[in-house]
Amino acid sequence: MAETSYNGSPRNNMLHDDYWDEHFMTVAALSMTCTNGDPKVGACVVDDNRRIVSIGYNEMSRGCSDDEFPWNPNPINPWDYRGFYVCHAELTAIIDAMRTSIDLNKCTIYTTLFPCNECAKLIIRSGIRRVIYATAKYPETRTESMRRIFNAAGVTFRQYKLKRSQIFVNLPTHQ
Ligand SMILES: [Zn+2]
Repeated sequence: MAETSYNGSPRNNMLHDDYWDEHFMTVAALSMTCTNGDPKVGACVVDDNRRIVSIGYNEMSRGCSDDEFPWNPNPINPWDYRGFYVCHAELTAIIDAMRTSIDLNKCTIYTTLFPCNECAKLIIRSGIRRVIYATAKYPETRTESMRRIFNAAGVTFRQYKLKRSQIFVNLPTHQ
């Protein structure tokens, strides 16, 4: 995939909606770099005026140190399994969004990974109406169950594949 500068302007050659999908998915991808373990997953919640309401990434529960709690997917001790301690990106983004007065019924969540079943339920219960995801890794049986409840709840979902694997951003620095 070509490396392309990210000019941050909708006045480029991309279609308008495509520009915003790329923009918010890039914010979700930037958020996932904050994850201090694996898998790195990011999310970005956006309202119907294309304002970012919150961002999230896979991280330990508040008060639980990365140095103390494991990120291990296959531990010797079963209680060291990361799934018991790590909060998914969708959860952190939604909880932070719900601390505002934003009506999540008008919001979209961009995620770098198709939501797991727990996050799918959380998305539905939060009122978010649209899911846009970049990649999917779960087995078909699990993915199908998530599609089933999204469809039943009226939550639309679609994939947005990023068109470039890297971006370069000129950051403002002191001259
Ligand atoms: Zn999840």
